[in-house]
Amino acid sequence: MQELFKSPAFDNAIAQFERACDKLAVEDWIKERLRLPQRTLIVSCPVRMDNGEIRVFTGYRVQHNLTLGPCKGGVRYHPDLDMGEVAALAMSMSWKCGLAELPFGGAKGGVSVNPMELSLPELERLTRRYTAEILPIIGPNKDIPAPDMGTNPQIMAWMMDTYSMTEGYTTPAVVTGKPVLIGGSLGREEATGFGVAYVVEDALKHIFEKSPEGLRVAIQGFGNVGTHTAIKLSEMGCIIVAVSDVYGGIYNPKGLPVPQLIELVQNRRRIQEFKEAEKITNEELLTLECDILIPAAVGRVITKENAPKLNCRLVVEAANGPTTTEADDILEERGITVIPDILANAGGLIVSYFEWVQGLQEYYWSKEMVFAELKKRMQLMFQKVLKCSKDKAVSLRMAALMLGIKQVAEAKKLRGLYP
Ligand code: NAD
Repeated sequence: MQELFKSPAFDNAIAQFERACDKLAVEDWIKERLRLPQRTLIVSCPVRMDNGEIRVFTGYRVQHNLTLGPCKGGVRYHPDLDMGEVAALAMSMSWKCGLAELPFGGAKGGVSVNPMELSLPELERLTRRYTAEILPIIGPNKDIPAPDMGTNPQIMAWMMDTYSMTEGYTTPAVVTGKPVLIGGSLGREEATGFGVAYVVEDALKHIFEKSPEGLRVAIQGFGNVGTHTAIKLSEMGCIIVAVSDVYGGIYNPKGLPVPQLIELVQNRRRIQEFKEAEKITNEELLTLECDILIPAAVGRVITKENAPKLNCRLVVEAANGPTTTEADDILEERGITVIPDILANAGGLIVSYFEWVQGLQEYYWSKEMVFAELKKRMQLMFQKVLKCSKDKAVSLRMAALMLGIKQVAEAKKLRGLYP
């Protein structure tokens, strides 16, 4: 069955899983089971375009495992999305939920589409059809989607409405990352980026014994995660020297004006339209001289080809899967610290958990409470990973994976085999 998922992303996820399992005493049958997703759904979504033509899009929902609770994971709209990538991301969600000690299993979904090429009405029709197609396997107690690359609170609102209309009653807990007015959590939009910044602060304090003041940061990807990371790190005193979007990046060693750049991208404009900076490519951004490099866009951008040229001391994986296993080894040899994705970007998952709980209870929290709880949980996770990495003499990535996988494997063992 593994052949079904064959892709660079899935191969990378399996390589990381195998390495972590080698250091853990996981029973063979559990290991065998966790190598593959529990359920995979591929759907075909015909959508009427504004010009009357009908286009058919392929969508996916992969549930890696449901041992610890309902599945949780984002919905990605991206032209290069394939089943292997969705399966890899779903697997990584399982370890992230385990590491964060949340009552969820991992899932991921999405549609192979470039959302920038669709009008809003087309996006709504596509989202509603995709939701209708995956409806049998989602629900507040089954699988709770959330935003990821190319999707946003409005898309979550359409998903929630489609599900609610079919069920016959309003069901806010079926998705997270919704607008606040219809049951979203305060702070969810900022959560992933702010969580990344909290982890940077902890890493600087406990690994480098430094403060963020004056440190130079380059961020690849300036969407939900990239912008909120930039906001919080600037507040902490960092200088954002480079940012990029899919079309390319900009660089100014003296620092870039974050609010102005956010205004630009909020108006669906390209980052390179900002004139008071040098234009650079996405590849150049990765090898710029800086203190902290934050990939916050697509996967597998740090490879064996560019890893020897990275010019930073710390890589913080805001994106999912931005570093290949070969690149990881090179960075470790070069003494560049990597904060792995399942730790660095867990803020979105944690506040999604808060949103799900609020939706089920119909009792809503203040923003202060959300951020205080988020910070507390991110700090606890960071300390746990750092301790494990020191105790076992492994990288932070290996420590995070070992903790996440162990949680899921032990739960599986306790629940035993059905029937
Ligand atoms: P987004 O769609 O809001 O923004 C993505 C950004 O990346 C945009 O600036 C886009 O132009 C850019 N981009 C797209 N393709 C690119 C490419 N090939 N090269 C360079 N830049 C490219 O997405 P997001 O929600 O900010 O997610 C970014 C990353 O963070 C993804 O890897 C996602 O899985 C991960 N993540 C997101 C969340 C969340 O809560 N949104 C949570 C955890 C992890």
